[in-house]
Amino acid sequence: MCISPFMKTHETCYNAVRRGERLMGKLYVANGDDPRHMTRRLLELIQPEAGLEKSALIGLKPNLVVAKSHQSGATTNPAVCEAVIEYFFERGYTNLFIIESAWLAVSTKDAFRVCGYEALAKRHGIELVDVKKDEYITREYGGLKIDISKRALEADCIINLPLIKGHCQTHVTCALKNLKGLIPDREKRRFHAMGLHKPIAYLNKMIRPALTIADGICTDSGFEEGGNPVRRNTMVAGTDSVLVDAYAAALLGYSARSIGYIKIAEEIGVGSADMDGADIGYIGGTGPAVQHTRSVALEAAKARIDAREACSACYGNLVSALIQMGDCGNISVCVGQGFKGEHGGIGCGNCTSGFDFCIKGCPPGADMILEELEKLRGDI
Ligand code: SF4
Repeated sequence: MCISPFMKTHETCYNAVRRGERLMGKLYVANGDDPRHMTRRLLELIQPEAGLEKSALIGLKPNLVVAKSHQSGATTNPAVCEAVIEYFFERGYTNLFIIESAWLAVSTKDAFRVCGYEALAKRHGIELVDVKKDEYITREYGGLKIDISKRALEADCIINLPLIKGHCQTHVTCALKNLKGLIPDREKRRFHAMGLHKPIAYLNKMIRPALTIADGICTDSGFEEGGNPVRRNTMVAGTDSVLVDAYAAALLGYSARSIGYIKIAEEIGVGSADMDGADIGYIGGTGPAVQHTRSVALEAAKARIDAREACSACYGNLVSALIQMGDCGNISVCVGQGFKGEHGGIGCGNCTSGFDFCIKGCPPGADMILEELEKLRGDI
């Protein structure tokens, strides 16, 4: 018998979620500064195990895009993941694994280690799955084919554990975009060549987490690589990834439907971005005031960039270098796959190899970009 609290208003249960039906319109928001306790409270209310067989294979998908501690505001706090593991273990579920791939040119193994997941997996005896080393299965939606991690597709359920944070290209990253960690690097490059928004939305039609618990405790509001963390002390959980993202967007000061992939995901039926109609239950006080805290330095750096189909790592490293430079003078830099075969002034990444000055790499690291731009600064 289903005992999910969602039953009260939605007459559906966990099994229905697994069949692709959604528990629309319901979110839980926890406020506080103890991610382990907050995660447990959310799970106890939602009871995601309802209807789930004890033998179920459960995949946990944090955001470990870079090898940086959660204190940087870039990655999911391992305490969130650990609370989920303990919750399921206590209820007799032992078939769990953690799955992720860091972004281009960053080793997932390093990210697992630095972010605290290697130690976490050892403590609990569960497997870490590196998507970069996995096999892939091609899925299709709306004429778009995408290769997706075989291990992720084999799971009986995926529990999505994104970080609510800013993104220098899409403005917001949370539940929907976090699934990009379940595809190979070559697909990540292709996503950027396709403009990111549509393939992110379509990917969420091909693989659907049963539940999202989004970490918004310590997060960078402007940059997915972290470095400017803000304590928001909030977490959001729900089975509708679009609604979770709509809340995350509002938290960062954006209208949900102004974010391309959220808008498309709603249009193709992944979920609802209707925040006005959402039924939001608060734990530990009402939600934090929504804010708009994009930093001045970040916006100044972005104003120096002409990006066309740029991969996140290439663009992010360039932003990072420009922020470190501070006063960039008149420098402006082109980046992205859209500049392949073109000519120009200063380019970042091998895609701009036809430029007068190209910072080589695919992607070049932030330190190297900084070093090269510093050399140019005096000449411009
Ligand atoms: S050079 Fe940069 S934009 Fe071009 S494919 Fe490599 S990472 Fe992507």
